[in-house]
Amino acid sequence: MKRRTFFQSAAAVPLAGALEGARAPSLETRIVRLKLEHTWTTTMSSSEYRDTLYAAYTRDGITGHGEGAPIVRYKEDAASAQKAVDSVRALLLAAPPLEFAKTMNQVFGRVPGEWAAKAAIDIALMDWVGQKLGIPLYSYFGLDPKDTPLTTFSIGIDTPEITRQKTREAEAYPILKVKVGLATDEPTIEAVRSVTHKPLRVDANEGWKDKEEAVRKINWLEKQGVEFIEQPLAADRIEDTRWIRSRVHMPIIADEACQHASDIPKLREAYDGVNIKLDKSGGLLEAYRMIQIAKALGMKTMLGCMVSSSVSVTAAAHLSPLVDYADLDGNLLIANDPFRGVRVDKGKLVLPSRPGLGLTPVG
Ligand code: MG
Repeated sequence: MKRRTFFQSAAAVPLAGALEGARAPSLETRIVRLKLEHTWTTTMSSSEYRDTLYAAYTRDGITGHGEGAPIVRYKEDAASAQKAVDSVRALLLAAPPLEFAKTMNQVFGRVPGEWAAKAAIDIALMDWVGQKLGIPLYSYFGLDPKDTPLTTFSIGIDTPEITRQKTREAEAYPILKVKVGLATDEPTIEAVRSVTHKPLRVDANEGWKDKEEAVRKINWLEKQGVEFIEQPLAADRIEDTRWIRSRVHMPIIADEACQHASDIPKLREAYDGVNIKLDKSGGLLEAYRMIQIAKALGMKTMLGCMVSSSVSVTAAAHLSPLVDYADLDGNLLIANDPFRGVRVDKGKLVLPSRPGLGLTPVG
């Protein structure tokens, strides 16, 4: 190597490092269109793609990745989520990054609603913090990655023929979650049962209108090897859900009825457990609080997700050693995941051991 070239290249490394370190922190957002493998139908909607909000928080040469899936039910979309992050960019860039909990409290105080946007910010900050400290997020929360639960794989509402096909395709997953809540519930479950005897969990997504009908359906599901039912009635019908609970054996889990920590105490008499999602709660810190509160009240805990990439699903998976049930398959339903993170091995969640979320970009 020529002497001059050597000095140029030797000097280039520390200089680039210094420049990187000195570069102003940034917070970028992007709306990402995730393509679904199958058209996804629940009682609420039917779609071939989902838009989520991706956020990248860069500081000291480290980039934290975050994502939030806006939920139509809470009047959110990707554009409103992006606007919400823009509204607190100055706050986030000025705040000391290791004061993330204080910063998130300020974000919660300043931004009404927009839980997916808050989740994207929280996840990006926590990924950054984990990388800065050099530890995976499960270690930040003091958890053992071997304690992750099995995740279910979800089967959306479809014709019996496609339901059978989807059930066969889900061969690798030991527990399935089946969407119900319509007049076709019995044919749907029968289609699944014609292919497999594995344990099922079902989600009515507030679809049943009549409490007597809900009891009849749940009693029937109890004979079909179903472990629990999510959200049989509309979220605000807590008293009717308590009435159902006293007439069935199967645990009832609140999803749409349980968005934040403050919702949990009033659900205690009507539900056996709660389904916590980062997109509803506004990120990891609030989800962690919710898990602890539900446990303290003697309720079962579940971590769920929306259709999203490995960014959001991996974030939730880092908390999964704490919960009884996981439904963390949102990244498995899409065809164009931009990252790799948590893996699923025979249904068991396998957490990456790299610092922060432990994501690697695809391609
Ligand atoms: Mg649900």
